[in-house]
Amino acid sequence: YTSCLKTVSSVDANFVHADNHGGHVASNLIGDALKARVESVNQDTCGAGEEDAFFVADLGEVYRQHIRWKKNLPRVKPHYAVKCNPDPQVLRLLAELGTGFDCASKAEIEQVLKMGIDPSRIIYAQPCKTKSYVRYAAQHGVKQMTFDNADELYKTKQLFPEAELFLRILTDDSASLCRLSQKFGASLDSTADLLELAKKLELNVVGVAFHVGSGASDPKAFLKAVQDARFVFGQAASIGIEMHTLDVGGGFCGDTFEPMAEVLSEALDVYFPPHIRVIGEPGRYYVSTAFTIACHVIARRTVADATLGTTSYMLYLNDGVYGNFSSIIFDHQNPVPLVLNCGNRFLYDTRRSGYDTPTVTEYSIWGPTCDGIDVISQSCTFPETIDVGDWLYFEDMGAYTKCSATRFNGFTDSHDIVYVSSEPGATALLGL
Ligand code: PLP
Repeated sequence: YTSCLKTVSSVDANFVHADNHGGHVASNLIGDALKARVESVNQDTCGAGEEDAFFVADLGEVYRQHIRWKKNLPRVKPHYAVKCNPDPQVLRLLAELGTGFDCASKAEIEQVLKMGIDPSRIIYAQPCKTKSYVRYAAQHGVKQMTFDNADELYKTKQLFPEAELFLRILTDDSASLCRLSQKFGASLDSTADLLELAKKLELNVVGVAFHVGSGASDPKAFLKAVQDARFVFGQAASIGIEMHTLDVGGGFCGDTFEPMAEVLSEALDVYFPPHIRVIGEPGRYYVSTAFTIACHVIARRTVADATLGTTSYMLYLNDGVYGNFSSIIFDHQNPVPLVLNCGNRFLYDTRRSGYDTPTVTEYSIWGPTCDGIDVISQSCTFPETIDVGDWLYFEDMGAYTKCSATRFNGFTDSHDIVYVSSEPGATALLGL
């Protein structure tokens, strides 16, 4: 692969690709990209912001996740949840791979349509929609959308009576990272009335949707949700509504994917005959592990404890919870700091299995804003003495990170992304 990397923005993408699969190749590619970028910055002379945090995105990882999905959930057509990370190259790759898209707003629908995606590949999966957005969806032929209450049905009747509606039902999301059923989903004692109302309004209800919560950890949640969906399909059939699609939502994580997929697949086979179309809305699953972020140490404070005779340090990075680490607040994540560059030593990937030296120094890691809540790690240890000008990196930063970054305190919410591809399949699809 080419090792020639330059500073790029998310729009003007620069790609590096490999001829091998996954594992070491991915790691080497990411390491090379991080190194090249860090070495390209002369912190003593660079312009304001040139040492800003940046991402390395391995599109090969997104590709591998897709292959893994197809292997384990062949019946479920994924509709990538754009909200999770609307990165244009991720969307482009997924479009080439033939996925659909789950959009939550007019802007997301527009972004996907502008890529030339057919509106039939989009589901507007937001049960409580803005009226003008519904008009926009109607004008652009985005017919599939979810609802979970009577008011939304009246709204749909008024604005888009031809819509293809999915009744979103409540799930038990108690074992998930981000609970969604506190906000959305019709309980099973309200579904019969909603279906009756939809029929009376002559609306087109085509299926049931659910979401077991983002970052779900209990496979049984899928089983129960599929059973409940089956019940609602039955309710609909009993009043002459023939549903044809089940939407199993998102909630999948890389770590627990296979057991989840197994339970879901079995439940689908038991409760839904093969002619029922099944779609899903995975977000986190596709992108979480594909993005690594590198952050610059902009300041350090020495904390000497005279009583204990210890010295620890507070490190201040140029990204924090108001930026790409918004996932700490909104997505309940605990990103793990690793040392990328210390002095002139490049340490990427040397500590994957932890630190085996007894001499470690304690650090707390803070973001750049004035707010005390802006903390990335209250306590972590490194064997190195980290100083101003060094770089740290964090893996698994692709989901619910940059999409919810703010410009608080005047810091940028738009960080450069260096794209690499560790899969020839992804490289070829993207025409690199
Ligand atoms: N679909 C809907 C309706 C959602 O609200 C979300 C996340 O909030 C997703 C899909 C994506 O979920 P995940 O990233 O857990 O797969």
